[in-house]
Amino acid sequence: MSEIETSLIGFSRGDTSGDPFYASNPATGEQLAPAYASASDAEVDRAGELAELAAGSLAALSGSEKAKFLRTVADNVEGIVEDLVSVVTSETGLPEPRVRGETGRTSGQLRLFADLVEEGSWVDARIDHSIPERQPIPKPDLRSMLRPIGPVGVFCASNFPLAFSVAGGDTASALASGCPVIVKAHHAHPGTALAVGQAVIAAVKSCGLAEGTFSLLYGGGRTVGQRLVKHPALKAVGFTGSRSGGRALFELAGARPEPIPVYAEMSSVNPIFLLPSVLNERKEEFALGLQGSAVMGVGQFCTNPGVVFHDKGEAGDSFKSTYAELMSQAPASAMLHSGIRDAYGEGVSDRSGSSNVEVLTVAGDGRGAGGCEASTSAFATDARSYLGDASLADEVFGPSTLLVACEGREEMLEIARALEGQLTASVFGTASELSDSQDLVDILETKVGRLLFNQFPTGVEVCHSMVHGGPYPATTDGRSTSVGTGAILRFARPVCYQGFPPERLPKELDEENSLGIKRVVDGKRG
Ligand code: NAP
Repeated sequence: MSEIETSLIGFSRGDTSGDPFYASNPATGEQLAPAYASASDAEVDRAGELAELAAGSLAALSGSEKAKFLRTVADNVEGIVEDLVSVVTSETGLPEPRVRGETGRTSGQLRLFADLVEEGSWVDARIDHSIPERQPIPKPDLRSMLRPIGPVGVFCASNFPLAFSVAGGDTASALASGCPVIVKAHHAHPGTALAVGQAVIAAVKSCGLAEGTFSLLYGGGRTVGQRLVKHPALKAVGFTGSRSGGRALFELAGARPEPIPVYAEMSSVNPIFLLPSVLNERKEEFALGLQGSAVMGVGQFCTNPGVVFHDKGEAGDSFKSTYAELMSQAPASAMLHSGIRDAYGEGVSDRSGSSNVEVLTVAGDGRGAGGCEASTSAFATDARSYLGDASLADEVFGPSTLLVACEGREEMLEIARALEGQLTASVFGTASELSDSQDLVDILETKVGRLLFNQFPTGVEVCHSMVHGGPYPATTDGRSTSVGTGAILRFARPVCYQGFPPERLPKELDEENSLGIKRVVDGKRG
């Protein structure tokens, strides 16, 4: 490995003269070699130009050709799993099983998209035959399908160094659609980004695809990231991170001469609503499950359950003590980087200092002893205080839970109505309590991307029906999902061909349905 690593600009490498930065080991605080040089303006522009040049040939690939490429990327990523175990654990502090699991999730995700585009029906082909004799005017022949949107910029997520980074869900769905991808690496795991980026480039080469199919840029969000978003070749952005970062990129993209969509997945507290039977009949079991979900991955999952609404009273008080005890037993662990640990510390300090909040358990200000360590925390308040203090609805990203005691059903409904957009909301209770709570479910359905019954929100299945999205501020576009095959729709747009001669139509829209895909023909789905 050289002393200074550089960006991957298509098939060439960036210059070593850009501002250097280093990763560090969050468990020990130790600075890690090598240095990584930030991309220059010219390098960002070059990546954009190459992507623009590649867009046409990528859009022209068949579903099978794209599938072959995605499977080659998956094979290549799996082929470097031993290297990934070493580099990811040192850059993120994540344990080896998590790295192996996330590698599998990354390759599995790529293969799922490969299957999707190989089968081909995702393009939503629609055909309306002409009716020349129609009165008063003839109906023309109209055929539409989804086409790739063009070059996509992807910002790596700090909390998923593999599954939501260089070859993660945003990249996989954009490539599957037929879009070139330019990735902005996260400063916390540049070595991971390089290993995976090289695996992608190797697949681009071995599949004979255009050079600009993929680039990887190093550098700050406010410099390299913003220049990338402003590049005229870019047609969409995928992002996972903070609300401030996602919002800044959304506004920047909207202010371009040609505004483009930004699919930012940002903050969510993933509320849980307890119907009465839970605390009366299975309080310990629920508390244990909640604790497991809240401390999983040191609380650094976007679906971490940050707030629980329960009934006031004896059972509620006893639940608070049980939960406090469980949370106090969870050991302090290293968070992913110092920025996340410091943001967690500030959130915990603010909450501890609030006169509206009872501290159930927290060690110091939540910042543990060494490296980027954080200790678990739990707080309690009541519904009136929660509704009167907007800061209590904010995400404290990390292993922290707020328990909110409600004065009966009406207060729970009032809280549900006041919620911001969320990735998920969970309801726990019996089936009959659920059927008596349709009013709560109806409200929650307007607030979230995924509703759960008697299940905790962590653990996001990658499949066809997953919705990992939700109204703002969970995301900048509540009509989309960033996990599952539906994610491809973010990077595609419908195009209609009117009166085209049969030989000039895409195969997906030909008369004989030579690809054998599902289509809507004259209003009939087949
Ligand atoms: P982040 O600070 O938003 O950074 C994510 C990426 O966006 C980085 O590449 C960053 O560049 C870039 N960026 C940030 N602000 C930007 C701006 N104003 N303009 C352009 N680019 C910008 O997120 P993070 O590092 O992952 O974690 C920080 C906080 O985000 C956490 O404490 C947590 O609160 C939140 N977070 C939430 C979720 C979730 O799913 N809910 C997930 C992860 C993080 P740099 O390389 O320069 O930093």
